[in-house]
Amino acid sequence: MPLPWSWFTRWFIAWMVASVALGTVVVRADIAARREAFQSDARTAHRLLSQRAAQHDAILATLVLLDPAPADEHPSTRLPALYSQVLKVWRRTAAAAWPEASLAMADDRSRAAARPALAAVDGAAGHYDLVLAGVPVSFALRIELDRWVPWSDWPFASDGAVKADLAHGTQRLPLQPGRQASGWHGGVTPGFVFDKVLDTPSQPFVLHLQRATGPADWPWGRLAAVALALAVLMATAAALQRQRQQRLRTEQLLRLARTARLNALGELAAGVAHELNQPLTALIASTQAARRLLDDDPLPRATLQEALGHARDQAGRAADVVARLRRLVEKPGDARAAQPVALGAAVRGALGLLQPELRRLGIQPEITDAGVNVSADPVALEQILHNLLNNALQAMDSVPAAQRRLQLIIDVQGDRGVLRVHDGGTGLAPELLAQLFQPFTSTKAGGLGLGLSLSESLASAMGGALSAQNVQPAGAEFRLELPLAAAR
Ligand code: ADP
Repeated sequence: MPLPWSWFTRWFIAWMVASVALGTVVVRADIAARREAFQSDARTAHRLLSQRAAQHDAILATLVLLDPAPADEHPSTRLPALYSQVLKVWRRTAAAAWPEASLAMADDRSRAAARPALAAVDGAAGHYDLVLAGVPVSFALRIELDRWVPWSDWPFASDGAVKADLAHGTQRLPLQPGRQASGWHGGVTPGFVFDKVLDTPSQPFVLHLQRATGPADWPWGRLAAVALALAVLMATAAALQRQRQQRLRTEQLLRLARTARLNALGELAAGVAHELNQPLTALIASTQAARRLLDDDPLPRATLQEALGHARDQAGRAADVVARLRRLVEKPGDARAAQPVALGAAVRGALGLLQPELRRLGIQPEITDAGVNVSADPVALEQILHNLLNNALQAMDSVPAAQRRLQLIIDVQGDRGVLRVHDGGTGLAPELLAQLFQPFTSTKAGGLGLGLSLSESLASAMGGALSAQNVQPAGAEFRLELPLAAAR
């Protein structure tokens, strides 16, 4: 059973599925490439910050090394001018005390570890203190975070999507805010994360980098190109498929036509036999009768002449059938034989041949004739009428006498002459209706089932048509249409 969708809908759904599948591959590849780039940038940022932190160790070591020096000329006074991130420098001699407790504690740790130690970390203010215990003088620096980060070499754009901060214990020193991971800018695909402690042991900050990714980052241009390329590819494939189907259909039709021609040939042969059979049987009957009459004494000349005349008529009919066949074979579909024929006269002529049968069945045909002239081959028309009337009489053979009515209505409808042969017989068997005009369709014992198929072929060849239906209360009606003869 075909799907209840149009060809285009099915094509569209297939295209969507293929686009989504291929689009997913493209997006995944893109995310992998961007993750790699992020990790590489993160490593650069980590290296830069570690180097800067190491610089602070070096500054403190230099200060301790250069001491003692006159206080007003001490290098520490010029430090903030040289290193903008250094907000403040403390110098403590052994006798003096640190101004803040955190510095004093860091001094102890520095002394124990023999390297600079972190003192206070102020996330809100964005600075931290670093102490190096020395003998006899210790030094401390206050570093401002924002000036410490080497922004000119920083691999991430400050207004970009990357959130960066340094963590120490519960303290967080924000470096850049980054973007919220929600909706269009994140949440759909997992973000990228980088966490690593700086390589400088004196300032063990954890560099935390985070980048949200979402549909806003997807390679929409490439996705559109993929969808377009798929559409072109699939449309071409579909067109080729349709072309192939069309070719197969044409080949099938040609095969059918060839078979039909062979069937028609068979039908023609059987039809000729059928049509010749009747006049030849009548011819034999007439000549046998004539031969018997020859034995009579006195010779019944008039009856003999009538029998021989009948025999000559039947031989003439047989010759007509053969002549028409020759015309058909010489030039199929030739309309040369078509001539104006009075439909009423043709019907009466055909009834004349069936007089004995009409009498036997006690039927008086009821003719309604509007006086119609059709364009037809008289011999073909005679055959059609003979078949239709003969079938009608045979159908009434088995019904009660009161039911036997034969109505023949001749009329004009549009540009056609119409004859309706309406009988009160058995009616058409329902299983027969669909194939009534197919050759070899018969319910009669010994019937060839060719009369109606031949009649329909003949009517079509003359530009007409033959159809049938059952009628109420009983019987069948055959309807013969033929083109009207051109008015002179
Ligand atoms: P045949 O007469 O050799 O059977 P036809 O082609 O003339 O072949 O008719 C085919 C079949 O159509 C008949 O066998 C009969 O069953 C049915 N038929 C034709 N005309 C009538 C009719 N007027 N009433 C009922 N049945 C009919």
